[in-house]
This record gives sequence, structure tokens and C-alpha cells, in this order.
Amino acid sequence: MSDCLFCKIVAGDVPADKVYEDERVVVFKDINPKARVHLLVIPRIHLATLEDLKPEHDELIGHMIRLLPELAREQGLEQGFRTIINTGKGGGQIIFHLHIHLLGGPELRGF
Ligand code: AMP
Ligand code: ZN
Repeated sequence: MSDCLFCKIVAGDVPADKVYEDERVVVFKDINPKARVHLLVIPRIHLATLEDLKPEHDELIGHMIRLLPELAREQGLEQGFRTIINTGKGGGQIIFHLHIHLLGGPELRGF
């Protein structure tokens, strides 16, 4: 956990282009954006993946999910947006601190 990049961003030890934060989450721009808007929504507490979620995290996860359309609206994504959560190596997860990708922009296509 002390080695976790996103925990360091939460602590302010590593800089990030933050667009929102509150007592439970931090939201910042992805350093390598895959779309015009590419944000990462992370919990302040360290949870490595979806596999770590327990019932006690239900409120936190609900908060993160309900934040998404608000953030999308603030980013001008009136036409909609995409959310992705990569889980584990097989899911393409590189940073093992739970995060929701929020993507949007004209260049997005369906799968
Ligand atoms: P994932 O593959 O779901 O683990 O995605 C990790 C994401 O974190 C990638 O899209 C990276 O571009 C992004 N990322 C890595 N380091 C940073 C950083 N220092 N600041 C912002 N985004 C980062
Ligand atoms: Zn962490």
C-alpha cells in the first residue's frame, strides 16, 4: 500500500490534475487519455480491486457511481459517456488501487 501510486496521489505526494475531491473520493485526469475526456475516480481508502469490496463499502461504491453522471455533465458530455473498471491482470488492470475510468468525447465508438 505504501508503494501505491494512487494512494500517493490521494496523499498529495504525487501530483495529479484533480477535477474533484471530497471526503471519500478523488477524481483526476488520466495521464494518458484515451478520449477527449478521460477521468479516473478513486476511493481515498486503498482497495486493490473489485475483489476487495465488502458490504461495508456499499455506500462508498454507490457514491462513486452516482458521481459519474455529475462529472460527465461538468465535462460537457451531454451525449453520454463510458465507464470502465479493469479488474486483475486478465482484465488489463495496471494500477492496483480501485478506479473507475470515465471516458467521453466524439471519438468514442461502440464495442
Ligand atoms: P488500469 O489499466 O485500469 O489499471 O488503468 C490505469 C490508468 O492509470 C491508465 O489509464 C494510466 O494512463 C493511468 N495512470 C497511470 N499513472 C497515472 C498518473 N500518475 N496520473 C494519472 N493517471 C495515471
Ligand atoms: Zn492505493
